[in-house]
Amino acid sequence: MQRLQNQVALVTGASSGIGSGVAKSLAAEGAKVVVNYARSAKGAEAVVEEITAQDGDAIAIQADVSQEDQVLKMFEQMYDTYGTIDILVNNAGLQKDSPFTEMSLEDWNTVININLTGQFLCAREAAKEFIRRGVVPQKSCSAGKIICMSSVHEVIPWAGHCNYAASKGGIMLLMKSMAQELAPHKIRVNSIGPGAIKTPINQSAWDTPDAEASLLTLIPYNRVGETVDIGKAAVWLASDESEYVHGITLFVDGGMTLYPGFATGG
Ligand code: NAD
Repeated sequence: MQRLQNQVALVTGASSGIGSGVAKSLAAEGAKVVVNYARSAKGAEAVVEEITAQDGDAIAIQADVSQEDQVLKMFEQMYDTYGTIDILVNNAGLQKDSPFTEMSLEDWNTVININLTGQFLCAREAAKEFIRRGVVPQKSCSAGKIICMSSVHEVIPWAGHCNYAASKGGIMLLMKSMAQELAPHKIRVNSIGPGAIKTPINQSAWDTPDAEASLLTLIPYNRVGETVDIGKAAVWLASDESEYVHGITLFVDGGMTLYPGFATGG
């Protein structure tokens, strides 16, 4: 029995990296998946093809998650094809790094608009449909599931990345506040906090042996994460196996949040 059979999942920013891994993991458990992308139609189509080649069901839909009109249109297109939504994975995100005193307002706004406002816009639309439709017991004991892709940087400060860390800290309280407000509707809201996962966003941190060795000093488990590590966590959080899990960040980080600098006494 597939754990997400007949459920519709929207994964934002799913043409690469963690989003593509999550889309494939959800599809392997029977979900019909909307593969959202901002610019890379080719990347999104490749994910769709991989899913359909395994007898899964997926479509690609373009939308910039920071633009309200595009988000509304994406939800309409999703309803035209699949009729509803059961699982939202708010994954789209990016970095625009610079020293704090050199950070432009444009880079600040871009990161907040995509990483934080984008999650708000998609979650709001998903929550409306979850409330309208309610629980469908044949599919799930919850009316809907929202999974926010946060980061270890919702709790670990990150010099040189103030806009990114602020966006992830914002996601933490957005997620918890939505969880508090939406629980009476049987809507479950949680986050995943990845540590270092091998994707294009952080390629320079792991694509040479020296870089990877340096990165591993931050990871007690001594392995850089793979997108499938996040895919497995997303499937569990989306499934009824985690029914009583609500309003938490599940860190999937090989122990990065354990202050590894203190492992030898600090
Ligand atoms: P990635 O760059 O491969 O994926 C980000 C995706 O978001 C891309 O497909 C990109 O096209 C998409 N995107 C960017 N702007 C968009 C917009 N306006 N509208 C729609 N999509 C947009 O990197 P990733 O590592 O897979 O990142 C995915 C998420 O995971 C991000 O939220 C990131 O902050 C988070 N994360 C990643 C790591 C890591 O180590 N890779 C760690 C912690 C958190």
